[in-house]
Amino acid sequence: MPFAIHSFMIGTDDQIRLCHVFYGATKHEALNHQKDHARECPYYGPALAKGEVIDIEEELDALPQPEMDELLEFLDLMDEEDEEDGGA
Ligand SMILES: [Zn+2]
Repeated sequence: MPFAIHSFMIGTDDQIRLCHVFYGATKHEALNHQKDHARECPYYGPALAKGEVIDIEEELDALPQPEMDELLEFLDLMDEEDEEDGGA
């Protein structure tokens, strides 16, 4: 089952500073992407290690495809007008 982990990073001001979303064809793959990124990201890695993140897991019907229109639709950000005429 395709999977997403929305990982919200809490800043020193107690506000949400950023959100990384890790995708995978399975939950295991999404978790691996999260671990891989934590090793390389100077902001996210230390925050994850200190527990300064809130993770929300989501099962997906399908992974988003790498095209602007598909991603806008995936994020539900497509204007209704655009949806009707296929975004053209
Ligand atoms: Zn990062």
